[in-house]
Amino acid sequence: MMSELRNGFIQLQDLTKIYQTEAGDFLALDSINLVFHEREFTSVVGRSGSGKSTLMNMITGIDKPTRGRVVIQGREVQSLKENQMARWRGRNLGIIFQFYQLLPVLTLLENVMLPMQLAGLGTLAQQAKRAYALLKLVGVAEHWKKRPSMVSGGQQQSTAIARALANDPPILIADEPTGNLGTRAGANIMRIFQNLAAQGKTIIMVTHDRELAGHAQRTLTIEDGRITNDTNGLEGARSMRADLNVSFRGNQL
Ligand code: ADP
Ligand code: MG
Repeated sequence: MMSELRNGFIQLQDLTKIYQTEAGDFLALDSINLVFHEREFTSVVGRSGSGKSTLMNMITGIDKPTRGRVVIQGREVQSLKENQMARWRGRNLGIIFQFYQLLPVLTLLENVMLPMQLAGLGTLAQQAKRAYALLKLVGVAEHWKKRPSMVSGGQQQSTAIARALANDPPILIADEPTGNLGTRAGANIMRIFQNLAAQGKTIIMVTHDRELAGHAQRTLTIEDGRITNDTNGLEGARSMRADLNVSFRGNQL
């Protein structure tokens, strides 16, 4: 029973996406059958245009497949109504976008507080305290009062990671999280992801950078909407550390 749960944590069944364009139908995902394991850090690597973002948009329910299903924790994502979907997503998924998508009029602290406010978790003071702790975890706490435009791309991406962790979701989905960052900022984010995986988060990270993908325990290759390779990278597992505690479950929120 346990192993069944573990194996079927996120299931993609015959997942197919066809975009209708003026030039005709475009097959972006071609009948993908796949399982993501609980507590595993998986990278999905593929060239630009191979279908990575389309795949992430199916898993997060941001877009609907043409055919097939995404089942997460036994729940079919696409069967949820819009308000159920928003609620479920807010509690269970932390989503990190390539271009951060922080709200420009809010401070970094307020950006991280927002998901807690939307989910109605805690008092304002508790939200602020937790947001500050998360900013500290990703190394940007000293900038908490600033708006996103006043900090670097790496600091904005770190803030976006803190925001994704705000509601302590079991699953993190990241689409090219280091795509706009320098080597050092990128390496720091990989270190954070490895620590989160060691803390028990299930992480799916999309990247076009094979070297970055090597930080994960498992690497999937996507080409023309099909998974063409699936490997376990020992290096990623070996370099994992468990020295950061990000779970706030026992701590009010
Ligand atoms: P990746 O993230 O790997 O770069 P995408 O998933 O964004 O790739 O896109 C896969 C393919 O689907 C590309 O050829 C892209 O042009 C096409 N595509 C993506 N979104 C749309 C859309 N909304 N309408 C039509 N074609 C799309
Ligand atoms: Mg993409």
